[in-house]
Amino acid sequence: MTSFPPSPLMGQMQHQPLLISSIIDYAARHYGATEIVSRRVEGDLHRYTYADCQRRARRLAGALAGLGVGMGERVATLAWNGYRHLELYYGVSGSGAVLHTVNPRLHPEQIAYIVNHAEDQYLFFDLGFLPLIEAVAPHCPTVKAFVLMAGRGHMPAAGGPVRLLCYEDLLDAGDDDYTWPVFDENAAASLCYTSGTTGNPKGALYSHRSTVLHAYAAATPNGLNVSGADTVLPVVPMFHVNAWGLPYSVLLAGAKLVFPGPALDGKSLYELFEAEGVTFSAGVPTVWLGLVNYALQNGLKFSTFRRTVVGGAACPPALMDTLIDQLDVQAIHAWGMTEMSPLGTVSTLQAKHLRLPPGEQRKILYKQGHALFGVDMKIVDDDGRELPWDGIACGHLMVKGPWIIRAYFRDEGGEVLRDGWFPTGDVATIDADGYMQITDRSKDVIKSGGEWIGTIDLENIAMAHPAVLQAACIGLPHPKWDERPVLVVVTRPGAQVSREALLAHFQGKVAKFWIPDDVCFVDALPTGATGKVQKNKLREQFSGHRLDAPAKGK
Ligand code: ADP
Repeated sequence: MTSFPPSPLMGQMQHQPLLISSIIDYAARHYGATEIVSRRVEGDLHRYTYADCQRRARRLAGALAGLGVGMGERVATLAWNGYRHLELYYGVSGSGAVLHTVNPRLHPEQIAYIVNHAEDQYLFFDLGFLPLIEAVAPHCPTVKAFVLMAGRGHMPAAGGPVRLLCYEDLLDAGDDDYTWPVFDENAAASLCYTSGTTGNPKGALYSHRSTVLHAYAAATPNGLNVSGADTVLPVVPMFHVNAWGLPYSVLLAGAKLVFPGPALDGKSLYELFEAEGVTFSAGVPTVWLGLVNYALQNGLKFSTFRRTVVGGAACPPALMDTLIDQLDVQAIHAWGMTEMSPLGTVSTLQAKHLRLPPGEQRKILYKQGHALFGVDMKIVDDDGRELPWDGIACGHLMVKGPWIIRAYFRDEGGEVLRDGWFPTGDVATIDADGYMQITDRSKDVIKSGGEWIGTIDLENIAMAHPAVLQAACIGLPHPKWDERPVLVVVTRPGAQVSREALLAHFQGKVAKFWIPDDVCFVDALPTGATGKVQKNKLREQFSGHRLDAPAKGK
């Protein structure tokens, strides 16, 4: 790690390490009666307070010490968003061990790979994942026991193949007098793996310091703008980059927290939003498509829900327009990645934009947004030369900052930084006001006749067509132009549109050579473990597809 020279005159402020345990202590002491409401896997609603959460998280930390879990050792979770998962966030990291959140939607082989790579000592899992645990346990030799996150009444009969412990029993054996250890703020706190669309997943190992700084920045008004007046329901799973830091930001802001458990369909979410007075949420675009469709189809409005962060994949302008114009929910576009804890940019307006007509303001909000303080970014060409911030020049997006990785866990992939900057793998423009817009992931960019075609733009245009529910654009090999764009489309239930009509819809909206060569209609797009469209799967699926239409060329 880089070290810096001391100054002859050092500041005289108290030196308190930035530790995750201080967030739950603050929440319990200053917002002790604030509620945490969880829809449990068992089906019922569970309610308690920050003070209860802190007490149980400390008992859990004591129980982990009793199990012999030491500083820096990894403890895994395989769980939905709920209060016990939150207790693990604080109990594990607070004790000095490392919380490793595993995505249960991954293939069992991938789960076993990650658990082995992380050398997890214990694995905590939600009721419902027992069959998954039984499948992966024989392949996870480092795990000493699997802990079922439920009460004794839900424990299966003894004598099964897996060494099981009961979460509530562990807590009962814990200690109310446990005090959090104090240690170096640069100590590891949690571990998340990238979803590994190419090659094996790689681990991003966050520190206490990076997590606390990220939580502060995320809560600010130019960030996610979370305050004590909010009721926050993170739809984004706690296994997807730590629910974008909300389990930390929401507590330091003192907001009421609502957890949806496994019920993420439009109807269940809508009912919980209404029943608990949710004001703010966050999730990937596909989640909002489900909720928006449910609300529109049933003629429903939200009574308290006013803002949501949409990120993890490009938010189609059509979705943002529907949320704002039809449902009165402000959609806040945000961009980030596992390697960035994850927040990088958020799209919010500046004072000078408030005088612009609504249509012009909307164009700014469609972008991925402005860097938060703590994130520096630049775009470079293929040779690493920095490109201008003019909203036109398009290059490889590089970032640096105190919550951005410098190396993957166990140095997987070797040196990752280039001159101190992390290459994001995204291709973007940055305008004169500092708003960044992703045009593509570098591996999804289409190169036609030597020129780049950005697939996100094409997808956004397609999704603005009233008959289109979802669209993904992929490049397929072409004998003359190397690659040409092909649009894969899911139509709205009951709606119809022809290939020709959809292609005509692009006329005048993009350069002629950007217009896709073909349209393929499918029932559903393949989505990965975090709800994003898997373009690599689509490219495989359509690898035999012949482009019949005459190529547009340049
Ligand atoms: P994975 O794709 O491996 O699941 P992440 O969840 O960290 O990993 O995804 C990060 C990537 O997701 C970014 O590099 C970017 O390509 C994409 N992404 C995230 N947010 C946005 C956004 N708002 N617009 C466009 N792309 C986004």
